Amino acid sequence: MTFIAGLLKGPLIYEQDIRMDFDMLGLAPRLIAALAEQGITEPTPIQSQAIPHAMNGRDVMGLAQTGSGKTAAFGLPMIDALIKDGGRPVPKGAKALVLAPTRELAKQISDNLTAYTQGTHLKVALVVGGAGITGQIRRMERGVSLLVATPGRLIDLLDRRAVTLSETRFLVLDEADQMLDMGFIHALRRIAPLLPADKQTMLFSATMPKQMEELAAAFLREPVRVQVNPPGQAVARISQSVHFVAQKAKVDLLIELLDAHRDERALVFGRTKHGMEKLSKLLESKGFAVASIHGNKSQGQRDRAIRDFKEGKVRVLVATDVAARGLDIPEVRHVYNYELPNVAENYVHRIGRTARAGADGAAIAFCSPEEMGELKDIQKAMKADIPVASGRPWEVIGAPKKRSGGGGGQGRRFGGGAGKGAANAGGRPAAGGGRRRAPGKGRAHQAA
Ligand code: AMP
Repeated sequence: MTFIAGLLKGPLIYEQDIRMDFDMLGLAPRLIAALAEQGITEPTPIQSQAIPHAMNGRDVMGLAQTGSGKTAAFGLPMIDALIKDGGRPVPKGAKALVLAPTRELAKQISDNLTAYTQGTHLKVALVVGGAGITGQIRRMERGVSLLVATPGRLIDLLDRRAVTLSETRFLVLDEADQMLDMGFIHALRRIAPLLPADKQTMLFSATMPKQMEELAAAFLREPVRVQVNPPGQAVARISQSVHFVAQKAKVDLLIELLDAHRDERALVFGRTKHGMEKLSKLLESKGFAVASIHGNKSQGQRDRAIRDFKEGKVRVLVATDVAARGLDIPEVRHVYNYELPNVAENYVHRIGRTARAGADGAAIAFCSPEEMGELKDIQKAMKADIPVASGRPWEVIGAPKKRSGGGGGQGRRFGGGAGKGAANAGGRPAAGGGRRRAPGKGRAHQAA
């Protein structure tokens, strides 16, 4: 169990001791052979927990992040059942449907499922926005075994009667928390009733916000819960740090830090597509090989950016949450939270891009005075303080009026007051012109 051992911690992580092979899970020999060809021989913890239940036909609610092997956790039992079933799909039909929040994630899932079905008769199709619809309609004409889709485009195809879900026996909702964040709940409510009532449903989510219970109650029947990483807890091997730095001084600090490891891949997260595009241009002008992914990029541009990043043609990938979440990008040593996410869980997702597959990684956060509220929320969600790399926590204001000077008086309001005399170590100017935002919980992703 070397793949994931040491990555995870927490009371529910006892799987490191378990040694198990895929044949012990009862998967079809052809499937095991196809997996072995890809070097996949031992199940990861989420796989050894979820697969037996899924193969017994149970609904599954899985709490696991990308990198845990969750695609195979839900994919293998379905593939196994479909191999054993042997029957052809109905025209325009799909025997299994996987819904994912973003195009990139859907593509990644479809690529993985395609690899896992090598050498079988199963057909995988991908239906996502941003790509030509005609080809997708044609692909669905004769029906497929596994359909991976983003909800919006799927509804488009359902409205055109290009897809039928009347014989879809498996439904997977992947990265369900992000689907909720992105407002896909209405789409789910429309899609799910089109499937037969006796379908098997699996829901995977990286976090378990309260709403997830409602979602599970609405879509799952007595689900088995499997979990490999307690919600909100960052993986153990990531060294985290925070720089208290004014918004305007962030660029220089980023360049300085990136400069120190030009040969290694770095992922830089920010909030707005506009801001991230500007940052990426600026880094480019400083000689960094940069690509960016955000909501303003075409599908082709996004795919190219990720491919170039994976291949090492670009070393720095600048991204917004929407575009980057759930992606399986290997060997990212450094994840920069250039701007803190305004939903605390997203911090965990972002830093989860590093320390994958057993590697060590660093997660470096930049916190401007305006972001103290977000930082506090993140630390609360993680139940731990992030070690300070430079600067000091920004001044807090509000009742009681005394300055705390030390980062985070409980229950106080954080002022966006731009550090008048506030901690400003590291010789960086105080934030004069940083954006102002209400601290705390805004709606995520709006501008991404
Ligand atoms: P996922 O969390 O599904 O995005 O998977 C992350 C990566 O781990 C993918 O590249 C998978 O191909 C790989 N992977 C999945 N299961 C295993 C396994 N049992 N052993 C080794 N690698 C795996």
